[in-house]
Amino acid sequence: MRAVIPSLFLVLLINPAPSAQTARNDTLEIYVVDVEGGEATLFVGPSGESLLVDTGWPGFDGRDADRIAAAARQAGVEQVDYLLVTHFHTDHMGGAVQLAERMPVRNFIDHGETVDKEQRWLDRFQVYADLRGRGVHRAVRPGDAIPMAGLDVVVIASDGAVLDAPLDGAGAANPFCDGFTFQGAEITSRYGNAEDDQSIAMFIRFGEFRTVIMGDLNWNREHPLMCPDNKVGAADLYLVSHHGSETSGSEALVHALAPRAAIMNNGPRKGGAVQTFEILGAADGLEDLWLNHYSIPAGDAHNPPERFIANLEEGAPQADGRTVHMGPAHWIHVSARRDGSFTVTNSRNGFSRTYNSR
Ligand SMILES: [Zn+2]
Ligand SMILES: [Zn+2]
Repeated sequence: MRAVIPSLFLVLLINPAPSAQTARNDTLEIYVVDVEGGEATLFVGPSGESLLVDTGWPGFDGRDADRIAAAARQAGVEQVDYLLVTHFHTDHMGGAVQLAERMPVRNFIDHGETVDKEQRWLDRFQVYADLRGRGVHRAVRPGDAIPMAGLDVVVIASDGAVLDAPLDGAGAANPFCDGFTFQGAEITSRYGNAEDDQSIAMFIRFGEFRTVIMGDLNWNREHPLMCPDNKVGAADLYLVSHHGSETSGSEALVHALAPRAAIMNNGPRKGGAVQTFEILGAADGLEDLWLNHYSIPAGDAHNPPERFIANLEEGAPQADGRTVHMGPAHWIHVSARRDGSFTVTNSRNGFSRTYNSR
C-alpha cells in the first residue's frame, strides 16, 4: 500500500476537484452521528453530494456541530449540499447556526413554518429561519424528490401530510395494520407535540438498497402512511423513528418495512423505550439493532450486546442534576452498495457486520 500513496497525492495535486463532487467509490455512505438524543444523520451519495438530516442541539460550545463536522471530514465532505431539517424542535434544528460556522450549507429544506406558537419556540425557530434566509430555501411536501445524483430521495411525510399514493413498487395490503391502536393524549402529550407530526420523513434508494429516516413523526401519523396499504414498501435499513421513544415506531411501520438492520439515535435517557425494543425484537428478519447510546431506561434486559452500541457513558453530572457528555463521541457508519448489500460499523470499537444483498 505504501508505494501507492505518493502517486495518489500526485493525482490529487494535478486534478483538484470541487469539494462536493469529488469522485469516490460507488457507495452511499451514512453516518448516524451521536448528538445525545437529537438527530444528525449525514448521507453522502456516490457523486459526493451530501445531505445532512438535522443538526443536533445548540450550545455546549458547538459540541454537536463539531461532531457532525468530524463525520463530514471522515466522509471527505467539505460542505453540506442539502441540510434537511425534519421539524423545528431544538434537538433537530438547534445546531444549524454552529454548523454553518464550521462548513458551508448550500440548500435548506424543511416543512415550512413552525406550528409551535409559544414565544420561546417562535424565538428558536426565528434563529433557524434567519440562517435559512441566507441560503436557498425550499419547503417540501409528500411525493417531492430531493435531486441527489445516483439516489432516489423521496419525501413520504411533511407538514402534517403523508403520501397519498404508494411509491413505485409499493402499495400492497399491510397485514400489520390489524390491531393498530391509536395513542391517546395521555401518551402523546408525554413527549410529542404538534411539531413532531409535521416531521419530514424520507425514503432513500441507492440501486437495490433502501432505507427510511422518519424524524420524529408520531405513531398515529404512521397509520395513514402504512395502512391499510403499505405506501412505502420494504427497507433494508430502518433508521429508528423519534429516538426510539414509545410515541413512534408501531408494528404497522416497523414490521411492514421488514428491515435487516436498524440504528437508533437515542440518548442515554432519551428515547430507547422498552416498547420500542420489544417491537424491534419481534420484527421478522431483523438481524441486528445498533444504538448511538446504551439506553439506561431499557437496561441490560433490552439493550443489544455492547459491541453494537457506539457510546456507553452517560456523561458528567451538572449543577442542575442533569448529565452532559461534552467533547467528541462515536458514530455508527453505514456503507451501502448498489446491489443492496451494506456494512455497518461502530466507530468506538471498529466492530462491523455486512448484510448481503437479498
Ligand atoms: Zn427529536
Ligand atoms: Zn421532535
